[in-house]
Amino acid sequence: MADEVIWTEAVRDQLLRAAAAAAPRECVVVLGGTRAGTQTSVTDLVAVPNAAYSCDSFALAPDVFASAEHTLRDRGLAFLGFAHSHPEGTPAPSLRDRAELWTGCLQLIVAGERVHAYRLDRDRVPHVVSLTMQGPTA
Ligand SMILES: [Zn+2]
Repeated sequence: MADEVIWTEAVRDQLLRAAAAAAPRECVVVLGGTRAGTQTSVTDLVAVPNAAYSCDSFALAPDVFASAEHTLRDRGLAFLGFAHSHPEGTPAPSLRDRAELWTGCLQLIVAGERVHAYRLDRDRVPHVVSLTMQGPTA
């Protein structure tokens, strides 16, 4: 699947801020935007509390997810996926991520200033998704 994800400086800044605020724990962010064909545009996000107990994982309570998705829908946006951070690591899916992340949807991983995008297929194999910054006139 030719998969292209467009995002904005504003979303990137919000995401880096959420990651910095959550450190040393992982941040959890619900991503919203629009989809047209194979192109996904991330235009908004909702940072939610990390329900995990340990520093090297993240979890999301079902009611928290439902309310974040509702917030996005109220803004006229579709739920696209999640972002989380690896405060001490690299922006690559961990073994736990490969086992636990939702398949199909967009997964952004933040490490420091780096953000990489993935999508796990049905067999939980992560595929790198290209992330393109939206130009000022786009
Ligand atoms: Zn992870």
